[in-house]
Amino acid sequence: MGGLSPCPFCDGRGLVTFERAPEVEPCTECRGSGRLYTDAEYRGVFDALLREKGIFADRDLRLLLLGLSALERRLSELEAKLRP
Ligand SMILES: [Zn+2]
Repeated sequence: MGGLSPCPFCDGRGLVTFERAPEVEPCTECRGSGRLYTDAEYRGVFDALLREKGIFADRDLRLLLLGLSALERRLSELEAKLRP
């Protein structure tokens, strides 16, 4: 299972600033999310975000994450069945 941590390249802001135009751009290291995830395939990221947000997650965001987490579980089950 992967883990979330603040992106050290943009200090978790998701943006990098420049003195000249463009003055601000999404951070390329974290792709603008402000966080790095240890699993390259992002497996388990929905559950990790649910854990991180806890009860403070917006209700709609929480529902979205729960749905995505369930989808990921079903996909894992399918992958396990397809494996020789
Ligand atoms: Zn970043």
